[in-house]
Amino acid sequence: MSHSSCIVLLRNELRLSDHPALLHAAKNSAVIPLFILDDKIKLGGASLWWLHHSLKALGDDFAKHGIKLILRRGDTEKIIEEIQKATNAKAIYCTRNYTKHDARLENKLHAKYQNTEIEFRRFGGNLLIEPEKISNKQGTPFQVFTPFFKALQQSDNIRTPIVKPEKIIPFSGDIKTDNLENWELLPTKPNWAKGFAEWEIGEASAFKKLEKFLDSKINIYAEGRDFPSLAATSLLSPHLRFGEISPAQIWEMVKLKCLGHPTDNCQKFLSELAWREFCYHLLLHYPDMATKSIKQQFSAIEWDNNPNQISSWQKGQTGFPIIDAGMRELWQTGYMHNRVRMIVASFLVKDLLIDWQYGEQWFWDCLLDADFANNPASWQWVAGCGMDAAPYFRIFNPTTQSQKFDHDGKYIRHWLPELAKLPNKYIHEPSTAPKEILSDAGIIMGQTYPFPIINHKAAREKTLFAYGKIKGAE
Ligand SMILES: Cc1cc2nc3c(=O)[nH]c(=O)nc-3n(C[C@H](O)[C@H](O)[C@H](O)COP(=O)(O)OP(=O)(O)OC[C@H]3O[C@@H](n4cnc5c(N)ncnc54)[C@H](O)[C@@H]3O)c2cc1C
Repeated sequence: MSHSSCIVLLRNELRLSDHPALLHAAKNSAVIPLFILDDKIKLGGASLWWLHHSLKALGDDFAKHGIKLILRRGDTEKIIEEIQKATNAKAIYCTRNYTKHDARLENKLHAKYQNTEIEFRRFGGNLLIEPEKISNKQGTPFQVFTPFFKALQQSDNIRTPIVKPEKIIPFSGDIKTDNLENWELLPTKPNWAKGFAEWEIGEASAFKKLEKFLDSKINIYAEGRDFPSLAATSLLSPHLRFGEISPAQIWEMVKLKCLGHPTDNCQKFLSELAWREFCYHLLLHYPDMATKSIKQQFSAIEWDNNPNQISSWQKGQTGFPIIDAGMRELWQTGYMHNRVRMIVASFLVKDLLIDWQYGEQWFWDCLLDADFANNPASWQWVAGCGMDAAPYFRIFNPTTQSQKFDHDGKYIRHWLPELAKLPNKYIHEPSTAPKEILSDAGIIMGQTYPFPIINHKAAREKTLFAYGKIKGAE
């Protein structure tokens, strides 16, 4: 018997389970899973690295069902049309995505295929709840996180995850596919991604990581999550970013784990997942969030944007150990701990007075979890121009943050081996150490480790003045 076929467009849901578009397609049709690398969407270098491995893992998972994952590069709309015509597919399914570009594409496909015999259908799957299904008492979108989280928890509309299709029928004809290696997503000359090797990628690895987190780390999450050397967080962010696991799957497994004894730890973890959700809701309402301040009055700030300071920050050579450790962790592993992300971001924007967009772009290029919503929303949060953001006058002191959250300097010593021999007393501020201590630790300030590139107190005053000049900053 020959089946009609259905194209399943894959973008940021590189998994087989909890994939409504795939499950529905598999019910009645032969499935043509299609990933298109559309160069209109500019991904950062680290994301391309992850994408390569994630597509490889997904291709292998489909192959176990006898299905070929079709890879193509070019204009999404044109390629879908070409494959639909070549295969005579009767349906095109996708999962809803939330960037401006994706929303436009989905609307275009909807308009193109409505009133034809080809069915275009869009499913949920990438969020816990569709943005239209949650609003405040006035019926408008939430602008503050706490009531959003409360409403989310009380909502009946949180998705319940679904299983993977038991059987997927392959398309019987031949469809042209690219060779993943020819896309050259991995860096070679030089291979700056050597330090990424510890990540295990793909749907099975994402579940393994979640199980490990629930077994061993969630019990210390609420407090532990702020201390980078404890590694008490889930490290699920790149898996979520590429949809190797869905937020609904995580939400359900956390709820099951905490059944009967809802602890602060579980609640805190669910609230962080809800922050992701909140960021996506913001993205839908502020589609230019990566390039424009949500609170527009902040675009009047007179930034310094000093190129030497930007470069010192990027390279982890600012003379502030906690900043330098974070920036080197990012460069070497494609990841940075959340507490340290907040400290380095505050330092860039509020100590160096550099436009948050420079930071957003650097993170976009370097993070394996560089996310369409979380990244710009978090940068705007730190800079004070986002929704429910940190007030502009809250400026982290990098040294006291370091003393508080890396008190024994374990994290700093790991990423800055040149400071490893400094006693705890000076690890957060090497430039204050007496000469003999520096000498015993093998440090020559200005040569083996830089002097601080700014004076925090003076920088703070300057920033308060720059922010204070704009109307309505508070
Ligand atoms: C300046 C800055 C930039 C950031 N850029 C990104 C980014 O590009 N991609 C990204 O996924 N996160 C980003 N974050 C949020 C946060 O730092 C990461 O999600 C977190 O560190 C990922 O580690 P984890 O998976 O171990 O987190 P866990 O603590 O285990 O949290 C579980 C999941 O909840 C979500 N989450 C946690 N914290 C946040 C948060 N503050 N905002 C939104 N979602 C959150 C993530 O999806 C995360 O994987 C950024 C934060 C800052 C301050």
